[in-house]
Amino acid sequence: MSDIPAHLRDQVVLRAGNRCEYCGLSQVGQEAAFHIDHVVPRVAGGRTESENLALACVS
Ligand SMILES: [Zn+2]
Repeated sequence: MSDIPAHLRDQVVLRAGNRCEYCGLSQVGQEAAFHIDHVVPRVAGGRTESENLALACVS
């Protein structure tokens, strides 16, 4: 499971308009829940903050 705090997730989902930030797919009507991606992975020094997070669909 993800260790992203709920308030950050909410912030990202809100900013993304509940759509995948990569392909624009809306989460509404999707069976699988979208997840929050680190744009720059934490192993590469990416921080867990809204600027470095993106809402992403499963595909
Ligand atoms: Zn997508």
